[in-house]
Amino acid sequence: MEITCIACPLGCAIKVTLEGGKVVDIQGATCKRGEEYAKLECLSPKRMVTSTVTLIGSPLRRLPIKTEHPIPKSKVMDVARALLGVEINAPVSIGDIVAENICDTGVNMVATRHALAISTKNEAIN
Ligand code: SF4
Repeated sequence: MEITCIACPLGCAIKVTLEGGKVVDIQGATCKRGEEYAKLECLSPKRMVTSTVTLIGSPLRRLPIKTEHPIPKSKVMDVARALLGVEINAPVSIGDIVAENICDTGVNMVATRHALAISTKNEAIN
């Protein structure tokens, strides 16, 4: 399996040989960090997920969110589907949990920016 390491900007090309579901050889990684990345990418790939959800009561209509930690790559599409139709009320602070334990990954989706609420006088308030 050939992968490009994204653990640092050098982007080394790494070749991983698997046998019986186990890593038996790694070529091209120029550091331990790259070897670990290559192993994980082959055996248990994970990804951060970023998205937006509907924001109610704020001048900002969509709230940007992300996973707190990487989740299994196989769950990324499930998470995207689960977020469809999610709405959250303003105000929101960075780090507020928008969806807890998304798709049973053990990882929360959190806000990545503040969003003020609109008062009845149409003014932004906290
Ligand atoms: S193998 Fe090491 S040096 Fe190469 S891209 Fe990965 S982290 Fe960077």
